[in-house]
Amino acid sequence: MDLNLTDQHLAFQTEVRDFLDQNLSDHLKQNTAIQASIRTDPETANEWGRILGQKGWLAYNWPTTMGGPGWDTVQRYIFEYECAKAGAPAINSMGYRMIGPLIGKFGTEAQKEFYLPRIRKHEDSWCQGYSEPGAGSDLASLQTKAVLDGDEYVINGTKIWTTGGHYANRCFCLVRTSSEGKKQEGISFILIDMDTPGIDIKPIISISGDHELNQIFFDDVRVPKENLIGKENEGWTVAKYLLEFERGGVAYTPGLKAGLDNVRDIARMENGNGGAPLIEDPDFIRKLTQLEVRLQAAEFTEKRYMSALSQGQNPGAAASMFKLTGSELLQDIGELRMEAVAHYALPYLPESREPGSNVTFPGPKHAMTAPAKYLNARAATIYAGSSEVQRTVLSKQVLEL
Ligand SMILES: Cc1cc2nc3c(=O)[nH]c(=O)nc-3n(C[C@H](O)[C@H](O)[C@H](O)COP(=O)(O)OP(=O)(O)OC[C@H]3O[C@@H](n4cnc5c(N)ncnc54)[C@H](O)[C@@H]3O)c2cc1C
Repeated sequence: MDLNLTDQHLAFQTEVRDFLDQNLSDHLKQNTAIQASIRTDPETANEWGRILGQKGWLAYNWPTTMGGPGWDTVQRYIFEYECAKAGAPAINSMGYRMIGPLIGKFGTEAQKEFYLPRIRKHEDSWCQGYSEPGAGSDLASLQTKAVLDGDEYVINGTKIWTTGGHYANRCFCLVRTSSEGKKQEGISFILIDMDTPGIDIKPIISISGDHELNQIFFDDVRVPKENLIGKENEGWTVAKYLLEFERGGVAYTPGLKAGLDNVRDIARMENGNGGAPLIEDPDFIRKLTQLEVRLQAAEFTEKRYMSALSQGQNPGAAASMFKLTGSELLQDIGELRMEAVAHYALPYLPESREPGSNVTFPGPKHAMTAPAKYLNARAATIYAGSSEVQRTVLSKQVLEL
């Protein structure tokens, strides 16, 4: 991969910047700036998702054969970086990033025809029904049952930690269709409409004060059998393919770079010991530089890997490397941001971060999200596979230990 931008890529960068100038309104940017989560609030994110969908840039990671723009990896990276830098909303990516590529690979023609255009235009919001109270890292232990009754599966059980389950209209779900043989062999992958009778959703409030997570209960939920992706009892293969795209497939570092830029900006506005700007404090500079070096190493590794992807390879086990380093960097950037805003990190006022809220944060605007971002990032080394699990994958499948 040539890291220097060609004339075509520079022209593309200008096109993206022009598009963002014209379409990324102040209220979209303002609502994004007050969010602590890796996702912007659904209303703001959906508005931006539909704008991108109309332009044909939402499923920017898809090939033209799936109706995507067919961008090369450099274009994708440019797009992600420019969006992150401009403060564009972070959209629920489970549609275009996870279930879309999977339907493209395992779906029937009818499934592709129905779902792919809807995902491209952001007409659906998806959630992921994998984890259960007794099945997280050990996902294959899942117990939610689906029993075939005529042309429908009848689903009973519960899913937990379902991000965005309270506003998603569709869920891709792992269910147990057999208890015979190895536990991986009795799992099927099914799509569920969230307005189907028998679904009950209970909120789980995270330590940052945000409602993103849920527990979902299924009580005799009837789902048409044509909603199965792949064959019955072969859902584990489908699920593993999807996990690669959850942990890899799109770039981590553009968002992290924008996060570190934000910390640098804060350090220019805040004072350090003795009243000099924090950005001139030797100890702070050392920490900032250490993060910059780690981030640059991650960026170059990611670009090399994306180049391999563009040759048609899957993310594979190397996706674990990006999940691991990306989540640890996210936490460390959040920690340095807390240090930069110092005592302004103390007020706990989640209400002040709601769009249109009249609760005033008692400190500068740039400090408002620091503690919530810090707290929210605690989950980054757990979701999408914990760091311990990623290290095991890397040691076995990449290092062959
Ligand atoms: C913010 C957030 C969002 C999430 N969103 C979703 C979602 O949308 N959909 C969904 O299905 N799930 C979601 N999850 C669930 C997530 O995938 C699980 O939390 C994760 O897989 C860990 O499972 P667990 O919580 O059951 O912990 P456990 O698996 O019980 O792990 C507990 C601890 O033991 C360690 N551990 C477990 N097994 C091993 C092992 N073999 N070797 C070494 N250490 C091990 C883990 O690293 C962890 O530290 C989300 C979780 C969070 C925190």
